[in-house]
Amino acid sequence: MLKDILSKDERDVLETLVEESENIVLCCHTNPDGDAIGSCLGMAEYMRYRGKRPLVIVPDLFPDYLQWMPNTEKILRYDKHTAEADAVMAGADLIFCLDFNQTKRTDAMAASLESATARKVMIDHHLEPDMDCALVISRPEMCSTCEMVFRIVWQLDCFTMMTSQFAAPIYCGMMTDTGGFVYNSSSPDIFFIISRLLTKGIDKDKIYRNVYNNYSENRLRLIGYVLYCKLVVVSDYHAAFFTLTKQEQRRFRFIKGDAEGLVNMPLQIKGLKLSISLREDTERPNVVLVSLRSVGNFPCNKVAEAFFNGGGHLNASGGRLECGIDEAVEITKKALSHFASTLK
Ligand code: 5GP
Ligand code: MN
Repeated sequence: MLKDILSKDERDVLETLVEESENIVLCCHTNPDGDAIGSCLGMAEYMRYRGKRPLVIVPDLFPDYLQWMPNTEKILRYDKHTAEADAVMAGADLIFCLDFNQTKRTDAMAASLESATARKVMIDHHLEPDMDCALVISRPEMCSTCEMVFRIVWQLDCFTMMTSQFAAPIYCGMMTDTGGFVYNSSSPDIFFIISRLLTKGIDKDKIYRNVYNNYSENRLRLIGYVLYCKLVVVSDYHAAFFTLTKQEQRRFRFIKGDAEGLVNMPLQIKGLKLSISLREDTERPNVVLVSLRSVGNFPCNKVAEAFFNGGGHLNASGGRLECGIDEAVEITKKALSHFASTLK
């Protein structure tokens, strides 16, 4: 059986907030991933069960391989429908902030979120939550925000009433935040939760294929190109990095999501501890998007904080640089030297 995720006080506050609210918004971070979209859709489904009419607002485009999830067509994109989304935010009386710990993770949507008078509930598994909320449910030890949403619904005794419309997005978010249950997923509870989700008739094999076997030919060739031509392995430091320029992205007709998972691949090399991806932003000049992944106890979030204006989890972090790609490479080399003693 699962241990309760909420204390009695937290449960009471959450119940009261939901009961007292009519206009409920659920939102997530920019570049929404499976966990961000999954937790919004799962929680929205639960809100519908509670007789509410929730609306999911996301800051920007989410990848193609998440479009299959039920109810994605109802999601409002902030970047496309800003005025409408601003009005919904302003009129909301409860806003769920899912899968992020600081308003700045929502970029252009942050001002709207900050000025909203609605009470806010954060449900998130990133370290160091830092937002003004009526209720903060922060559980960095959990594999995903979707796991948290499941546990909340379970504790509130409502899981039996949920359908596949709840189970599919929740399963998807747990799957994507653990790379298909290959990292961050050794807790037996995760497999108990999966066993319950499967009782709702979801096809987990199909969900896997929808997400991981749904790419374009271009993406596969881009991966081949990066691994063959661009990967720099610094063996002494057990680290690797690669760059991806705007020109290269154009060559492979790059679309959002095409670089997903690429930064994990160098970690397949025996003994490698750290992998860094440096990708030129296609929309803004002189912006390099940085992704970092590590294995074991090497803290890539420390590297992200110290050198790349970012942060994240122990083994998965991100950040950004405001410079050209060559300078980004120099900064990366400095970062490796700086962490040499822990990498060697
Ligand atoms: P990704 O490489 O997928 O962009 O990010 C990996 C992880 O790092 C995600 O869990 C994400 O939440 C976190 N992350 C990405 N960028 C930032 C950032 O600028 N600040 C913090 N604190 N976390 C980040
Ligand atoms: Mn997550």
